[in-house]
Amino acid sequence: MGKDILFANRKIAEENKNRLRQYGVKAYDILGSIGSGKTTLIEKMIDLLSERGIKAGVIAGDVTGDDDYKKFVRHEVWAMNINTEKECHLDARLINHALESVDLGKLDIIFIENVGNLVCPVDFPLGTEKRVVVISVTEGDDMVRKHPLIFTQTDFTVLNKIDLAEIIEVDPNVILRDFERVNPHGRIFLTDAKHDVGIKELLSALIDEDV
Ligand code: MG
Ligand code: ZN
Repeated sequence: MGKDILFANRKIAEENKNRLRQYGVKAYDILGSIGSGKTTLIEKMIDLLSERGIKAGVIAGDVTGDDDYKKFVRHEVWAMNINTEKECHLDARLINHALESVDLGKLDIIFIENVGNLVCPVDFPLGTEKRVVVISVTEGDDMVRKHPLIFTQTDFTVLNKIDLAEIIEVDPNVILRDFERVNPHGRIFLTDAKHDVGIKELLSALIDEDV
């Protein structure tokens, strides 16, 4: 990856951060592989926020298509679809454009679902308050060992689909031990997003407020 590309991205990310802060909007970048459960996790969080009268919006990043976007729209929140076409990650410029087309005064929180990919999105900060990486037990017990860097460059880690661990014979403790070794001071949340397990804990930590 070219150094100046990354530098330019960081500059725009700073702009995004300032713009969001100006409006008191908190944004969260949700990273993770395809199928890790990012969309469901975000859907559950926006519902919890809506119940509390907190206005959340979502930017859905995908290489192509609008499947996730359509799911978010059903929750009656502001949502926007970004197709990256050839790119395997969102970048700060794309988010910069997205922020221009929304009335930030009407939002409290924006979730950004990054493109399903565990490798390069982490190199492209978007200007969010926090970054969360989502993995699931269905990806195997060696995810942390295979991609150690991403777990040190994000604020929180989510280990999702824990309800399936026993069925597919993956021991979550192996993943937890690897995580502890890679990021001893990091926070990891165990969730089963589909059945609302662990979502409140994650959301409370994210927005720094009990839900
Ligand atoms: Mg998704
Ligand atoms: Zn990429």
